[in-house]
Amino acid sequence: MAEFEQDVIVVGAGNAATCAALSARENGARVLMLEVAPEDQRGGNSAFTGGAFRIVYHGGEDLARLIPDMNETELRDVDFGTYSEDQYFDDMGRLTQYRCDPDLTEILIRSSFDTGLWMRQNGVRFQLGLGRQAFRVEGRFKFWGGLACHIWGGGKELMKALHARAARAGVQVLYETPAIALLTGDRGVEGVRVRHQGRLRELRAKAVVLACGGFEANAEMRARYLGPNWDLAKVRGSRFNTGQGLKMALDLGAAVHGHWSGAHSVAWDLNAPPFGDLEVGDRFQKHNYPFGIVVNARGERFLDEGLDFHSYTYAQYGGEILKQPGMFAWQIFDQKVVHLLREEYRIPRITKQQADSFESLAPRLEGVDAGRFLETIRAFNAAPRPQVPFNPNIRDGLCTSGLAIDKTNWAQRLDQPPYQAFAVTTGITFTFGGLKISNAAEVEDTAGRPIGGLFAAGEIVGGLFYHNYASGTGLMAGAVFGRLAGRGADAAARR
Ligand SMILES: Cc1cc2nc3c(=O)[nH]c(=O)nc-3n(C[C@H](O)[C@H](O)[C@H](O)COP(=O)(O)OP(=O)(O)OC[C@H]3O[C@@H](n4cnc5c(N)ncnc54)[C@H](O)[C@@H]3O)c2cc1C
Repeated sequence: MAEFEQDVIVVGAGNAATCAALSARENGARVLMLEVAPEDQRGGNSAFTGGAFRIVYHGGEDLARLIPDMNETELRDVDFGTYSEDQYFDDMGRLTQYRCDPDLTEILIRSSFDTGLWMRQNGVRFQLGLGRQAFRVEGRFKFWGGLACHIWGGGKELMKALHARAARAGVQVLYETPAIALLTGDRGVEGVRVRHQGRLRELRAKAVVLACGGFEANAEMRARYLGPNWDLAKVRGSRFNTGQGLKMALDLGAAVHGHWSGAHSVAWDLNAPPFGDLEVGDRFQKHNYPFGIVVNARGERFLDEGLDFHSYTYAQYGGEILKQPGMFAWQIFDQKVVHLLREEYRIPRITKQQADSFESLAPRLEGVDAGRFLETIRAFNAAPRPQVPFNPNIRDGLCTSGLAIDKTNWAQRLDQPPYQAFAVTTGITFTFGGLKISNAAEVEDTAGRPIGGLFAAGEIVGGLFYHNYASGTGLMAGAVFGRLAGRGADAAARR
């Protein structure tokens, strides 16, 4: 077997890829990672994340195993709640309209906590998601959506930690080395054709893990698979996830799975650059619309801002903005809630207006029918509401009634100036369609058989997400299936 320079080649260098590389390496395999990006832009979308990490936990004790450095104040002032396997299953089922692959979903959920501990052993640090996923009410923080655990320092630190561990473990990385095609032989997949320093090279290995993302950064594929105008969306993260890994596998007869016309997308600053900026990370996003209202160019509301916590609606509402005239919207808040707006509403590069009255705000909302906007505000404020207190930590039932689109929760009147407005468009995060894998992360062919020596993990895998998404699941899924794929690739290399 001297012809094989490596046991395992991992294509990609994000979260799923580094987890796969570490997992293969801990079992002794010689591992090479291929990264299309230069080193200072490595790590794909994983590097852009805020670090939300959806994991099963049963109260503070479990969290303390992941976050041993929690301080006394945190332990005293925080209601952690729990996030059971059943809650996770319910969220995955409800949000995907019960389409999520039952096997993959079960693997994701049941391995989540153990995988979190494994990442900790591999140098990843966690923190509580205070402020993002819990608000202070009557002196105490309370987690409302179960999403208590975040990666400390977000995606940047995640990538630093995993790459440091991989380097220490002896995993090699070739940067600026796109994989172009898969090589095959008697064993099945036997390596990767790459472009490296201007030349085509064939790198041979006994097994290959594809962890090189979806096609969200490829405008042509977005238009082809997601539909009209998706080519115009801004890309929230990496410019390097162009679907090449998917093409390579499909060329070999791999089966597809999941929601190929679906994608995760959010409200994103109207003037953000076409691709993500690592210095800004995820902060062009604007996730606090549940506390205000959102209007389109016609000056009308077009969605139920308070349908649920943002974690359960944000990934779908980006696509709703795409359907509006001009593909933009304005989020409007009054002073009663401004203190609840996350840090992302205070960054320097922001498209924002402020005024002391709606009459003076209206003409400043570029592209919006001012007259109709004022009517919308009047109707929203005049709508009847039940006598319940506003509470950002629960679905408070403070709803409007009688509007064309009612607001289901957190529907306080907008009556305390100065009013703030933020212009947003659609920012695509990642695509839902991907490859079909077995329960051991083997890529399957269209006849349902594993393709020898080929594994996949992360965004390139289909079947977990349809229509919508619960925040923090992407990193968790990448880690769970990356670890599984690495283990499988190592075992395949030994055969
Ligand atoms: C702004 C933003 C914020 C987010 N926040 C969160 C969050 O808080 N929590 C969460 O769970 N998820 C979040 N996500 C989603 C999350 O980033 C993804 O679900 C997850 O990181 C995907 O990991 P991955 O390893 O599959 O892909 P990626 O991290 O995108 O990695 C793909 C890798 O493959 C490389 N690559 C691509 N093509 C090739 C090729 N042909 N050859 C070689 N290399 C190639 C890329 O350069 C990259 O290194 C966020 C995403 C964005 C964009």
